[in-house]
Amino acid sequence: MMRNKYKYLVFGLGASGESAVRVLVNQECSVEVYGNSSSKEFPGVPFYDQAAVNITDIDFDTLVKSPGISNNHDVIKYCAEKNIPVINEIELTSYFNQTPIIAVTGSNGKSTTVTMIADYLKSVGKRVFLGGNIGHAFGNIVLEGEYDVAVIELSSFQCEQLDHFKADYSALLNLSPTHMERYEDLDDYSKAKEKLITKTKNKCLVDESFFPNESINQLKNNFYLTFDFKDSVVKGDHNKENFFYCYELCRSFLQSSELKDFQNFINSFKGIEHRLEYVREINGLKVYNDSKSTNLKSTLCAVDSFQGPVDLILGGKLRSSEVNFSSELLKRKEVIRKIYVMGESSDLLMADLSGFDLIKINDLGELKSKLIHEIGTLILSPGFPSFDQYKNFEHRGRLFKEMISYF
Ligand code: ADP
Repeated sequence: MMRNKYKYLVFGLGASGESAVRVLVNQECSVEVYGNSSSKEFPGVPFYDQAAVNITDIDFDTLVKSPGISNNHDVIKYCAEKNIPVINEIELTSYFNQTPIIAVTGSNGKSTTVTMIADYLKSVGKRVFLGGNIGHAFGNIVLEGEYDVAVIELSSFQCEQLDHFKADYSALLNLSPTHMERYEDLDDYSKAKEKLITKTKNKCLVDESFFPNESINQLKNNFYLTFDFKDSVVKGDHNKENFFYCYELCRSFLQSSELKDFQNFINSFKGIEHRLEYVREINGLKVYNDSKSTNLKSTLCAVDSFQGPVDLILGGKLRSSEVNFSSELLKRKEVIRKIYVMGESSDLLMADLSGFDLIKINDLGELKSKLIHEIGTLILSPGFPSFDQYKNFEHRGRLFKEMISYF
């Protein structure tokens, strides 16, 4: 199909929108931008200010939408009425990309797993592009050098609009209720992710949390029997599972002669910042930064990675549909010693978790005066997004590490 003939309008200029513009300019396509007055301008690319120009006055035949824009936005509704295709930057990039793709989606563990895959494939000599939802837009692949493989993290938002995009190999890691403000129910959410299954050319590994799946369980068990995790610095069964998906995808992608030293890789993988990252020890209290935890499931995985006693720092931005934390945390009451509660969700959590030893802190800064250090493990694993008090989870995690450095 002659994709270059289309008149593209890029709507929303985050990292992915910017990358879309660059790809379209690079491919000599017709491109215009629709955004707000603070949007970046690109030389030679017409810009329409949302506040001044009505979408009905712009002549375009494909909309490239930023993943953060709701499907209920008036512009998207207008495109639906006019039968104008709405795509995202991932889909757009697929029109021009020739590199084989390994794609990963799921509720938790995407960034960890794609980083594992990229690191392992680099260790066996592959030129790897790592991108997508992990912060480096997929579109950059069109603008940069030559790669042997693209390892792409996809959020459910990004999966929603896939059509031409096809992964060579993919995995759906796990499914747990998150982003429920955007989806009607878990089924609706899982459908967004399932789109990836039909968009995979060779092999898509699907976790049993999506549907009962004996073959994946068998593969997992074999993997757990073959490899040993005692020397791995990344803790918890959830990380064993991430290694499993990394291994299976790499095994599928590589020739068997190229697949080597996976045990060595398990022992040497250092993990990534803000994902159950070891910070330091304060008088026998080992401190971990798991600021990336924005849902109940990831917090439970963090707690389950230690024998206890665990002190937990919990709380953040309220979502419009909240999940109940108490029933799952109460099952772990033997392990959890105390819970520091913070952020917009404080009142809800203080009421919900009354069975625990609770300490309310206004923000992470208050740890300076309120942190009690007894032998055990302290984990910042908030279970909620960071936007109530922090710019993002990185900001929250770094501030936490700074606070911990004062002791
Ligand atoms: P994502 O990119 O899907 O948000 P990350 O790898 O960034 O996933 O990890 C997000 C949070 O989930 C962190 O708190 C991390 O410790 C936890 N986590 C990592 N892997 C898993 C997994 N397989 N299952 C559940 N939680 C996980």
